[in-house]
Amino acid sequence: MSAQPQQTYIYDNHGRPISYVRLAVTDRCNLRCFYCMPAEGIKYVPRKQLLSYEEMERILGVLVAMGINKLRITGGEPFVRQDLVGFLEKAASIPGLEQVHITTNGVLTAPYIDQLKAIGIRSINLSIDTLDRERFHLITRRDEVHKVEATMYKILDAGIPLKINAVVIEGKNEEDLVLLSKLTKNLPIGVRFIEEMPFNGEGAHYPKLKWNHQKMLTHLEQHFGSLEKIADDDHSTSRNYRIPGHLGTIGIIPAFSRTFCGTCNRIRITSQGLLKTCLYDRGVLDIRELLRNGATDHLIKASFLKAFGNRARDGFAAESRRNTAVAESMSEIGG
Ligand code: SAM
Ligand code: SF4
Repeated sequence: MSAQPQQTYIYDNHGRPISYVRLAVTDRCNLRCFYCMPAEGIKYVPRKQLLSYEEMERILGVLVAMGINKLRITGGEPFVRQDLVGFLEKAASIPGLEQVHITTNGVLTAPYIDQLKAIGIRSINLSIDTLDRERFHLITRRDEVHKVEATMYKILDAGIPLKINAVVIEGKNEEDLVLLSKLTKNLPIGVRFIEEMPFNGEGAHYPKLKWNHQKMLTHLEQHFGSLEKIADDDHSTSRNYRIPGHLGTIGIIPAFSRTFCGTCNRIRITSQGLLKTCLYDRGVLDIRELLRNGATDHLIKASFLKAFGNRARDGFAAESRRNTAVAESMSEIGG
């Protein structure tokens, strides 16, 4: 990653800087998480409709020149896409891109950890909703938890900063709020609990979300006593805490309640090249079409600026601009 200082910032129409892009490198996945995809019948996008690595590099080049300095690689499962590491090497060397992070389910990731370390990947978010074999199987519909756990320890051994993402799912992993939090006692990790959102390819699973952020906090405090509030980063989506005496930290992400939109600095590019300026919008710009129609960098930049200038104020406003309810799979968007 280049150490070149980056002074430019782009702002949206609400005065929020935009400095962070999340790029879904594929919509394919080797798991079938209950909250993300239906068990059967998911229709993957034809390969030609996915962005090529060259197209992704070009988009990143334009965005970084505009002032974006942080990239997260997500999917689908990033490691099911061939030669991901080759792409990461190129992306990480874009001048001005200061940080590259990855979100992965950890099943295929372990063999690449040393290479990720060498490239300078800043941190890894590992999605682990439970370390219990049966519950993992129930949630992901695959029997792979042993591989994910091995990846977790390999990342820690390599000294790459690690966060664990756990979606709290009614009736499926409620006990893991406490069990996963206990990992922070001796491990230097951030365990983050996420409210479930209806991005599962089917639509809302419940009439009302039971495990919202307040209930998660109350539940943890009933078990551990008062949690110590610690500082949140400027654009953090999580409210962060520490169990007194523990090495690691706990984060709670109100992804469905959407209390963090006022400081949101992120945009998303789907695996098909749609720009989303909010997780809850339907996609506001078809960048793949622009690229494949021969657009110049200047036109791509102008199109980004136009989209940033019409950004919804928050996730509720973005949702109300849609004409269909949220139901698409998170694997298309990247979380
Ligand atoms: N496959 C990778 C993984 O699972 O880490 C990256 C893609 S996944 C879509 C990114 C994140 O979105 C994961 O942490 C996952 O738990 C989260 N996620 C997926 N569907 C969700 C939903 N319906 N509600 C809340 N979080 C969700
Ligand atoms: Fe795959 Fe990640 Fe979705 Fe689970 S959350 S099905 S691992 S893309």
